[in-house]
Amino acid sequence: EVRVRFAPSPTGPLHIGGVRTALYNYLFAKKMGGKMLLRIEDTDQTRFVPGAEQYIFDSLEWCGIKLDESPVHGGPHAPYRQSERKPMYMDYALQLVNAGHAYYAFDTAEELEEMRERLKAAKVATPQYNAITRATMKNSLTLPEDEVKRRLESGDPYVIRLKVPRKEEVRLKDMIRGWVMVHSSAIDDKVLMKSDGMPTYHLANIVDDHLMEITHVIRGEEWLPSAPLHVLLYRYFGWEDTMPEFAHLPLLLKPDGNGKLSKRDGDKLGFPVFPLNWVDPVSGEKSSGYREAGYMPDGFVNFLAFLGWNPGTQQEIFSMEELIEAFSIERIGKSGTRFDIQKARWYNEQYLRAKPDAELAQYLLRALPDGITCSEERAEKIVGLMKERVTFPQDFWKEAAYFFVAPTQYNEQVAAKKWSAAAAGAFEQFRNELASLPEFNADSVKALLLQILERNGLKIGQVMQALRIALTGVEAGPDLMAIIEIIGREETENRIDAALT
Ligand code: GLU
Repeated sequence: EVRVRFAPSPTGPLHIGGVRTALYNYLFAKKMGGKMLLRIEDTDQTRFVPGAEQYIFDSLEWCGIKLDESPVHGGPHAPYRQSERKPMYMDYALQLVNAGHAYYAFDTAEELEEMRERLKAAKVATPQYNAITRATMKNSLTLPEDEVKRRLESGDPYVIRLKVPRKEEVRLKDMIRGWVMVHSSAIDDKVLMKSDGMPTYHLANIVDDHLMEITHVIRGEEWLPSAPLHVLLYRYFGWEDTMPEFAHLPLLLKPDGNGKLSKRDGDKLGFPVFPLNWVDPVSGEKSSGYREAGYMPDGFVNFLAFLGWNPGTQQEIFSMEELIEAFSIERIGKSGTRFDIQKARWYNEQYLRAKPDAELAQYLLRALPDGITCSEERAEKIVGLMKERVTFPQDFWKEAAYFFVAPTQYNEQVAAKKWSAAAAGAFEQFRNELASLPEFNADSVKALLLQILERNGLKIGQVMQALRIALTGVEAGPDLMAIIEIIGREETENRIDAALT
């Protein structure tokens, strides 16, 4: 059975790259008939941010990503928060120490700093605690056994480090990038257990992926450099047979393709990078979310799916079910994907237009200012007419205000150009004869208008825009006759009167 996990650290709001990782995990799990779990990686207590975990749950729920196991859903491998699993990690670290693959290190912060300075002075590009330098440091590989024992018993602070081999080619096969090879001299002796008794990300992540029977690790490309280290851990634990497959997702790039999309780009470039609004509990800084900006979750998910994956066909609109059906890791690209907010807007427009008028009407009704009322039926007609012209549900009120409030300002220049004396005469006749229509609707109004234009020797093109400006105050919009039907006979008469005076 395929089992995947989304393993965020609750250090702040999930940004769009994180949500994409979650989505791809979900699509893959469901496609394969497998399970997806959420594990909270909160071992770094200095980076813990209150509210971040709830934010993760809320974001996934908004996107429609359903979890099989998590801290809230529970599951056979509970607990799913690493801070609650703390007692078991030490045993695994000790297992590696006993097998000779890890060691205790007692170096103080000053000693580590001294080492870095020494290496820098010797022009070593990346100073590392590794197979060469560890021989000069205070650890269980260099200190006599009884000294190590004494230090441990007396409660000296220590960390446990992985003993990375000096000369070895570490290789792994990534499902997206193919073979990745790293020489062990480029990997340092990573700390596995910190002096506060907490495991580091590397240890906890591998132990939990193993215990939770994860079959595929799908995560961002920023984790690719850690993957060889993880391969070593699987080997030293003796878990190579059940080592998960890796798939590292391509980076999301800034709109201009210059560098990685960052959390700050949204504010700078004027688009949200978070699924939901977020207020940092410490700094009070606000960041805007897709939800509040008016993006609808189904369109957002569709957009997100295409940030790095494509179905290999022309089809662009996919429901979650269709995405699951079409998804495959083979069709994820290797190179970074440029983030394009226009595409997100386009998706929102497509999804908005496909929604029933009755549902869209609610957005308009909710946005009506105090003192303006509207029946559901009328609201449905308005959104039905306007939905081709808006991107976000909150645009309805902005774009459709003229259905409720007569224009007070016209674009005089445009009006003057079109508003000849002849046209004005025709409008007056039109206005006066509206009363005589037995039925007032778009068709009857149009027939009347055409009849009057003919009588006055005018062409429709000579008057339509002037009439539109008189009635709505703006130069463009949906079918004017349909607008007239909705605003009604009396209001139409009043607005023409106002424009004629
Ligand atoms: N906790 C890591 C993160 O915050 C998980 C990385 C992984 O998926 O292995 O992204």
